[in-house]
Amino acid sequence: MDYLKEVKETIGNIVPREAQVSSVELEGPEIAIYTKNPRIFHENEEFVRNIAYQLKKKVNIRSDKSLLLDPKEAEAKIRAIVPQDAQISDIQFSEPFSEVVIECIKPGLVIGKGGMTSKEIIINTGWTPKIYRAPTSPSEILRGIRHHLNKYASERKKILQDTAKKIYSEKAQESWIRLTALGGFRQVGRSCMMVETRRTKILMDCGINVAAQTPEDSFPYLDAIRFPINELDAVVLSHAHMDHSGFIPYLFKLGYRGPVYCTEPTRDLAALLLFDYIDILAKENKEAPYSERDVKEMLKYCITRDYREVTDIAADMRLTFHNASHILGSASVHLHIGEGAHNLVYSADIKYGFTRLFNNVDINYPRLETLIVESTYGHMNDIQTPREESEAMFLKIVQETVKNGGCILIPSFAVGRAQEMQLVIENFYRKGLIDPDTKVYIDGMTKESSAIHTAYPEYLRNAVQKRVLQNDSPFTSDVFQVAKPEDRDSIVANGKAIVLASSGMLTGGASVQYFYRMAENPINTMVFVGYQGEGSLGRKVQSGLKSIPMTMEDGRTRKLNINMRLETLDGFSGHSDRKQLMAYVRNLKPKPKRILTDHGEASKTIELAKFFSSKFGISSQSIRNLDSVRLR
Ligand SMILES: [Zn+2]
Ligand SMILES: [Zn+2]
Repeated sequence: MDYLKEVKETIGNIVPREAQVSSVELEGPEIAIYTKNPRIFHENEEFVRNIAYQLKKKVNIRSDKSLLLDPKEAEAKIRAIVPQDAQISDIQFSEPFSEVVIECIKPGLVIGKGGMTSKEIIINTGWTPKIYRAPTSPSEILRGIRHHLNKYASERKKILQDTAKKIYSEKAQESWIRLTALGGFRQVGRSCMMVETRRTKILMDCGINVAAQTPEDSFPYLDAIRFPINELDAVVLSHAHMDHSGFIPYLFKLGYRGPVYCTEPTRDLAALLLFDYIDILAKENKEAPYSERDVKEMLKYCITRDYREVTDIAADMRLTFHNASHILGSASVHLHIGEGAHNLVYSADIKYGFTRLFNNVDINYPRLETLIVESTYGHMNDIQTPREESEAMFLKIVQETVKNGGCILIPSFAVGRAQEMQLVIENFYRKGLIDPDTKVYIDGMTKESSAIHTAYPEYLRNAVQKRVLQNDSPFTSDVFQVAKPEDRDSIVANGKAIVLASSGMLTGGASVQYFYRMAENPINTMVFVGYQGEGSLGRKVQSGLKSIPMTMEDGRTRKLNINMRLETLDGFSGHSDRKQLMAYVRNLKPKPKRILTDHGEASKTIELAKFFSSKFGISSQSIRNLDSVRLR
């Protein structure tokens, strides 16, 4: 392999013989150097800096196997070296990577000033610390994922090496570039597209439409891919929502065994949602298109990248994620294709406006020719109420409902809207705006999802980040009580409560259970704060449906009359409205030469594309699913 030779030569030119490099390995997009003398690398930090600079790669220094202390002894030493205050919650050893995985509340204390504590661990035990932040409340799913990845460490190492072999197998060549829409164009749900060059084929997102009524409308057009699915080079995932991630495990069921690039929170939140999806279908005696085994297989193949980390994913494709301010870890995708031949930005779902959860959307790119932009609220009539006004309206609704002894149901995506509403509600409480007798319950996947948020504070807005780091996480505030299925009857009967429950579009799960219990009583209120997909129960109720057939627990069906108060507050949306989409395109640097609209109902994608063409003079199109566009 030529590239590995080149890497070894570069390293040989920078580090002296005493460094005793025993092997150099390509691990996916990163480089690992195994050494019998780790100390020399720590005493001469410029070695790693120079290698990383010359090769434009992340470089990991690891100890040669012969230096690794017995794990039991090493653990004792580590516990002696790391200050108690770090609150270590888990230590695991990953021999294939010569790493010790340390989970703790305060990662900074395991790293130490200038990395001193970590260095001490390496010098004394041989093991290189890989440090994870523990969530401030226990998360079974997060623990499960971290253990799963460790258990399959040697398999993962092989996966990374195989991936590297493919990436560096040949030099990039001039060629054509084509984009094919496989789902999520002129609709919301099942987002999926293929980007191809002469040598590379990748998918961006591969979701399902949970609101669709038939299987044909639920899944992307994978049957339009005219080659065996295992010939795909990579899958790039923008964020965890099911309409973007939901069908990726099916690729693994079909035999795909290649990398899935995403941010770390996206990996964990996607796993949470995918397991939940399988679980909900099982409870309804329906079969999921894939099993938990396929999700676990997918997890092994996830290669996580931070925002703005440039990564080779093929000989002719370079990927960078950028903050999309939509949900935790959500990203816009920048692809640099064919040595500068073309630059594509896929906005994915973006919020170009204020949120309590996240810092602002990235709008600066090194280069940009084609932009694919979402259109969920892209129509000229889609103007959201300003955020402050929405919060005031929400407060008023809560106060009015509670005064009458009713309950407020907020069906919300477990990932995203639920946490945003938690921050809003917690803020009301701190300011004494809500009657302290009002209870707030979270039900469904929200608790796990919120816990995962506390493990990745660096992805949150600075103010929230600070609170999580000071162990004053708003998500685990005692304002919130976790409701179990057996509590639901009494919560509704007692009244004076706010219930945050998933799913967000009443397509199953806890929110539907509360809806059944609350709908007939006019003292209750349901507040829609997120997008309601076409065909979903949420959309039907929102559009004025007066009654629905309801299946009772004994299997009989009866008519459920919808008498409760219904409110829609669009100002909490994680999607940009028309004005924000316009501002996003106007402020993007550099200006795209072409725009494709997606992720919106047909009326919106078409109208928005026309608008961009006339307003900015940028050639814009609303392509349909199965259309292919030549980008170069
Ligand atoms: Zn989304
Ligand atoms: Zn979406």
